[in-house]
Amino acid sequence: MNTGLAYRAVFQAPSLRLDSSVIHRMISDSTPFVLARQLGYLKRYPAKQMPDTERYSSFVEYPRFGRGPRLTGLNPQTEFSGGTFIHWHSPKSCRIPSRAMAANLGKQVPATVAVTHYYDVARQCRDCGRRFILFATEQQHWYENLQFGLDSDCVRCVPCRKKEQGIAKTRRQYEDLCHQGGRTADQCLTQAECCLELIEHEVFTPKQTRRIRVLLNSMADDNTFVDRVSLIRERLLHIEHNAEKSE
Ligand SMILES: [Zn+2]
Repeated sequence: MNTGLAYRAVFQAPSLRLDSSVIHRMISDSTPFVLARQLGYLKRYPAKQMPDTERYSSFVEYPRFGRGPRLTGLNPQTEFSGGTFIHWHSPKSCRIPSRAMAANLGKQVPATVAVTHYYDVARQCRDCGRRFILFATEQQHWYENLQFGLDSDCVRCVPCRKKEQGIAKTRRQYEDLCHQGGRTADQCLTQAECCLELIEHEVFTPKQTRRIRVLLNSMADDNTFVDRVSLIRERLLHIEHNAEKSE
């Protein structure tokens, strides 16, 4: 709690004529910046001075870098004549000032125009709609270490990217199993579980539950995996119940 700021806010806004008990409650209940905003104190302070923890508190947290951008003090702008070029995926409107870092052009995959600096940029996730930061260091890793082309872009937050990668992996596993002849009971169940997961993530339609029923029927005499089979049946019923409701 920044009581210094709180008291300055109180003394510099005498026209508010707040009762001392109200001020006391505001100080004990509020974060310094919420309090200062309530008292009109922030009119004197431009938004750029608001701490990152406050401004980016609603952003999706990145496991490695957290929520806030990383201050570098670098603020380059594209100069077509001067050899400075900012990525076209990072338009001015979403760049976070003073958060740029220089690129290592020797490590980038050659392109018609090399990107000389990466910026921390504020984005909105295509899947969940939440705001997230695409960090400059992340872009450097993509374009220099992983050798992604400069056309590659990031449109999803980290949790949505992970979810998408998980779904892609399940789909590959499911398709591999479909093409495999002479599947064991264990493999048939894995195939059924993959299919269930893909229906639950709306990659497959609920009609695909028929395939799962066929798979289960094909191993009706095998009692080795009773618990696993009953779990699959439970998930099946849940999907079929929801599908009936939405019809
Ligand atoms: Zn997302």
